[in-house]
Amino acid sequence: MKKILFATSETHPLIKTGGLADVAGSLPLALGELEQDVRIIMPNYQAIRNCEPGRYLCTVKVNNCDVNLLETWLPGSQIPVWLVDYPPFFKVPGNPYVDDNGMPWPNIGDRFALFCRIVAEVAMNRAYLDWQPDIVHCNDWQTGLVPALLSLEHQHPASVFTIHNMAYQGLFPATAFTLLNLPGQLWHPEGLEYHGMLSFIKGGLAYAERITTVSPTYAQEIQTPEFGYGLEGLLAHKQSQLSGILNGIDTEVWNPAIDPHIAQTYGMKTLNDKAANKIALQQQMNLPVDAELPVFGLIGRLVEQKGIDLILAGLPELLELPAQFVFLGSGDKSNEYRLMEFARLYPEKVAVTIGYNEPLAHQIEAGADIFLMPSRFEPCGLNQMYSQRYGTIPIVRKTGGLADTVVDTLPESIANGTATGFVFNDTSAATLTEAIKRCLVMFRHKKDWRQLQRNAMSRDFSWQSSAQRYLALYDEI
Ligand code: ADP
Repeated sequence: MKKILFATSETHPLIKTGGLADVAGSLPLALGELEQDVRIIMPNYQAIRNCEPGRYLCTVKVNNCDVNLLETWLPGSQIPVWLVDYPPFFKVPGNPYVDDNGMPWPNIGDRFALFCRIVAEVAMNRAYLDWQPDIVHCNDWQTGLVPALLSLEHQHPASVFTIHNMAYQGLFPATAFTLLNLPGQLWHPEGLEYHGMLSFIKGGLAYAERITTVSPTYAQEIQTPEFGYGLEGLLAHKQSQLSGILNGIDTEVWNPAIDPHIAQTYGMKTLNDKAANKIALQQQMNLPVDAELPVFGLIGRLVEQKGIDLILAGLPELLELPAQFVFLGSGDKSNEYRLMEFARLYPEKVAVTIGYNEPLAHQIEAGADIFLMPSRFEPCGLNQMYSQRYGTIPIVRKTGGLADTVVDTLPESIANGTATGFVFNDTSAATLTEAIKRCLVMFRHKKDWRQLQRNAMSRDFSWQSSAQRYLALYDEI
């Protein structure tokens, strides 16, 4: 049995802004089921919900700050969650990265540097918890200083650093290095320095014993300038320590046979029942009810990464098709505004909900026929996997985890029963539109469409196999 300290800035269902929270809420559980001793460590934000209040464990002094550690549990499990409690930083309204007005925390570097120091102290058993991990599993830049700090210790637990998104690196002016009182040995171009700036993510990339990312294709992509954001050289150099392990999904929460958020539960053998969800969705979104019309869904951050601009550029042509479009998300104000404009001008074809709404996300997955994910880049992506489980055929761009989890509908893949969606290559509205039209041809052939849905629904995206891979990686170190 391995002892694993899982360090993260967010964990579902306690607090979530994106896919990292889903991973942090699921992978430790899956590792627990494989008899591993896993503990999660994260900041004690004011916005944390859905867990028992933390019980006091100990006080740790770092950088002249007294920081309490509290213990709670991942709901419905035996997995301890250690909350790093430092009210001046974390007991304030807002989410882990931005304040109540959506402005990035001006002291975000101080917050996560303090968090990293505490993780390192716990990992070195200097919090006197009578528990020392074999592995510290760090996630994204917010935990990047942990492997760097551990590297300075004589004997230290091994660290794994997982990249969930290379686009976020935790870059700060060089003065931050001094202000954060970080050890001088870490300041050099092979260390935390990045072109004269302090880079948190480099701490993970340069010092962790193993680097992983969340899909095999993304592991390759980040070694190229297009996706590596200046760190492709370092990643290529570390190639032998770098691997891609696909995220799993929570197959209990995302199961159309028992989903409490959807109008009508269904399964592979009762696929006809899915139609009731389309009608419910059309009613809920104030669209004309029409069981025959194909309904396209999209859920996610309305930002350039997700290719929302491709959809906006393609919509005028797409609106000529007999189809409806349902969008749920929030992000760049201009994208939100343009989508709402389409909904205002074409209320019988486009429905938009701006905001974060989990029940509606489930209803869209169940009610839509087709799911759109034209991302420019996608480290793993979750919705394309949820969609397949719900028999909602994904249309995705061939990148990252989308390329690894959706099998394009081609004569061979139809013949051997592996086709599960539609995949297109170029980042352009024209190729997206072409893929949509290709999909609609198939949609009209009911028998072939059913087969495609069955193929998609029979894919196994559970955490079990991914957790086994992480375990094999921990064993290897
Ligand atoms: P990313 O982490 O890049 O945002 P992922 O696909 O990895 O993208 O994960 C996003 C997660 O957040 C998914 O579970 C998705 O369903 C959920 N999500 C995103 N936006 C919304 C929203 N507006 N309402 C409900 N769920 C959302």
